[in-house]
Amino acid sequence: MESASLRTKKSWLPFGLDRTKPRHYREMLRVAWENRDQARYAWRILKEGVCDGCALGVSGFRDWTIDGVHLCMTRLFLLRLNTMPAFDPSLLADVRELRQRSNEELRALGRIPVPLLRRAGEPGFRPVSWDEALELAAGALRKARPDRIAFYLTSRGLTNETYYVAQKLARLLGTNNIDNAARLCHAPSTAAMKRALGVAASTCSYRDWIGTDVILFFGSNPANDQPVATKYLLEAKRKGTRVVLVNPYLEPGMERYWIPSDFRSALFGTALVDEWFAVRTGGDLAFCSGVLRALLERGRYDEEFVREHTTGFEDVEAYLRGLDWSDLESEAGLPRSEMERCARILAEARSGVFVWSMGVTQHSFAADTVQAILNLALCLGFVGREFCGVVPIRGHSGVQGGAEMGAYATVFPGGVPISPENARAFTELYGFPVPERPGLTAPEMVEAAVRGELDVLYCVGGNFLRTLADPAFVARALSRLPVRIHQDLLLTEQVFLDPEEAVLLLPAKTRYEQDDGGTETTTERRVLFSPEIPRQLGEARAEWKILRDLAARVAPELEARFGCRTGWEIRREIARVAPQYDGIQHLAKAGDSFQWGGRLLCRGGRFPTPDGRARLRPVPLRREPAQSGTFRLSTRRGRQFNSMVYAPVDPLTGASRDAVFLSPDDAAELRLRSGDPVVLVSEHGRFRGRVHLAPLGRGNVQVHFPEGNVLLSPQARDPVSGVPDYNAVVRIERGNA
Ligand code: SF4
Repeated sequence: MESASLRTKKSWLPFGLDRTKPRHYREMLRVAWENRDQARYAWRILKEGVCDGCALGVSGFRDWTIDGVHLCMTRLFLLRLNTMPAFDPSLLADVRELRQRSNEELRALGRIPVPLLRRAGEPGFRPVSWDEALELAAGALRKARPDRIAFYLTSRGLTNETYYVAQKLARLLGTNNIDNAARLCHAPSTAAMKRALGVAASTCSYRDWIGTDVILFFGSNPANDQPVATKYLLEAKRKGTRVVLVNPYLEPGMERYWIPSDFRSALFGTALVDEWFAVRTGGDLAFCSGVLRALLERGRYDEEFVREHTTGFEDVEAYLRGLDWSDLESEAGLPRSEMERCARILAEARSGVFVWSMGVTQHSFAADTVQAILNLALCLGFVGREFCGVVPIRGHSGVQGGAEMGAYATVFPGGVPISPENARAFTELYGFPVPERPGLTAPEMVEAAVRGELDVLYCVGGNFLRTLADPAFVARALSRLPVRIHQDLLLTEQVFLDPEEAVLLLPAKTRYEQDDGGTETTTERRVLFSPEIPRQLGEARAEWKILRDLAARVAPELEARFGCRTGWEIRREIARVAPQYDGIQHLAKAGDSFQWGGRLLCRGGRFPTPDGRARLRPVPLRREPAQSGTFRLSTRRGRQFNSMVYAPVDPLTGASRDAVFLSPDDAAELRLRSGDPVVLVSEHGRFRGRVHLAPLGRGNVQVHFPEGNVLLSPQARDPVSGVPDYNAVVRIERGNA
């Protein structure tokens, strides 16, 4: 499959009736039916709340980038999590049968109504009072050595206030073992951007997409993950922006998307991508290096910007010139002519925005790849001015705020790195000793558990069994933990794993039910307020309140110092502790927001680094010669939100959950046809699926996450950021029908 300038076929039947595509209007009706028992409440969530889905961000239906209603199916699918009733707790009296159920079936049972406890050897859970539950949790936390406690927080549905109080509790307990789901996706972006630019956030706003000359997407599929972004792309294209996709797969949703709110697009679809570069899986680093080399060879870079605002250019130039084009070609999976073609596109552009996602970040060399993207953007001067920027687009509403609130093993609130000096400053601020060494990251927590080095794991949402590599390894690790505490809305399979001593379920309120409302931070650094929309389901409590009450029980003598007694008090404290969040204390009603840093960061090429300059850095080329008969596998999303699957067939690709995405040429060589059963074999596991032919570069294969996690190594991760590698090398064998 060759990359190419694209002339995609128009669909001449209205609404793409002749194409595989989402049926938005039909799906909307299904969502309305699903939520009919709470229709008024659901409407209030949509009208007054922020979005529970991705971090593009919306408050009510208000869009800050373009006129019109901001709504997508992801938000609508997630609605039921916030309107469903509670289950009868007697259902959990014996967990044997529940263990056979899928995560989707467990989710459909409903919300956790009351605190529930299961001790080792007991067949199931029994209800306990909040007093008993908190005393038990506090007792386990008090008893454990600080380095044997760990906290993990999910990235969907949690407020900044919850992240903030959770990290404060962890630090009160004397540990930095606190991490959130950002570790599993954009940790490399955070690490590389902080080092290169001094900021770990998008440097521009979405409105800079509209009016820019070129947008490059690396390993990103916004049509699936941030659907409303397609509206921005439509507007951008109408203004003349060229959209470039650097990806092994010509994602169908990017090739053509039917935007329901635009009449013309809803009828005939819009070709979103103008140019496609079919890098091989993991080839982005080599591709960016080749493109930059081509630009440098022709002197087509922003010499003045480089001279005035960066360091390290000579090292990068010398390194790139020393590389063989043949190495760049084999690692990028594309010929030199393609890298030169991309260089020409960029050289013609006066402005550009680079966007990347998990196709780039979930690799064992991801921080280097992000640096390669930044090198390219900086050499073109595409940072710090209008219609230019670098954007690690966030798939989940909590990913940006979670780390900025300090619920992260490697930073304190405000994104302040963990060091003895910074720990002293936080000790002063908090009035109790704050630990000075980085804590365990999420994958390290699981490894520590399997070694018997953890006593308590406290999970606020999340499901390691579905989100980390090698589920059997994760199950072994979680079962070795003496005490697990799961603070959550719903059941997941991981709560049914036998404990060494006890498992405690704490029923949490949804984001919308949180007392005093709550905030989230979007990809473009906009902090949005979502008011409390009162609803009391069973005995559920606000997430931050549970954590705060635990702090009061663990260290009653420090209760006053710990503070955080109301949502308003927490926001005032965040404003003091994380200076970029100054303004959060004034957010009080639906629609209130502010954008920290304003439209652009690093404006005028002034970077918040010690010398005010950005750091260009040579990044070593990965040399991974393809072994004959093997394929590079990556995991991908279908119709799902993180590990929550919403449809057995992805309406964008037409692929079922067991699909093995393969290029027609590779399939022909293997004498395989669409639908043939195959087995993928990696060093770590086997995956049974069926061939799904797709416009994929040769030598690549894709399967859905989390089903494909059985093929992944639990040890493979990026040394800089700790993100797990969600890719593998596999052989393809013919399976039995
Ligand atoms: S694009 Fe993202 S923020 Fe916007 S409605 Fe959809 S899920 Fe929510």
